[in-house]
Amino acid sequence: MTETLKGACLCGRVQYEVQDPDSLGYCHCTRCQRWTGSSLAGVVVAKESFRFTSGEDLVTRYESEFAPRNFCSNCGSSLYDDLGEQYFVAAGLMRELALKPSFHLQVAYKANWHEIGDDATQFAENPPA
Ligand SMILES: [Zn+2]
Ligand SMILES: [Zn+2]
Repeated sequence: MTETLKGACLCGRVQYEVQDPDSLGYCHCTRCQRWTGSSLAGVVVAKESFRFTSGEDLVTRYESEFAPRNFCSNCGSSLYDDLGEQYFVAAGLMRELALKPSFHLQVAYKANWHEIGDDATQFAENPPA
């Protein structure tokens, strides 16, 4: 069965659907911290499983190092981090998400004040390919 999750930004004008989310985890890199204000909780989704259902014209892309950032130009909500074949979609925008976090990336760069409180696998940088 295909699982579909809906997401919406803070102002509600950008809406999207993702099919068959792969996993949920955190990225603690300094780029995600600057982009979101803390670590980025994201859902890994194949790029062909992500589609906008409204407001695509409001989506703006910032060409960040390694992974371009896509956000709502009206309210500023972080939407997704473009990893090429996969998107890392901001988890907080999908209210029906039921996955449990399974990984922490870039833990070597996490904020000093951020204490990891779950037992998901931690990687100092990225998982070995
Ligand atoms: Zn918005
Ligand atoms: Zn990151």
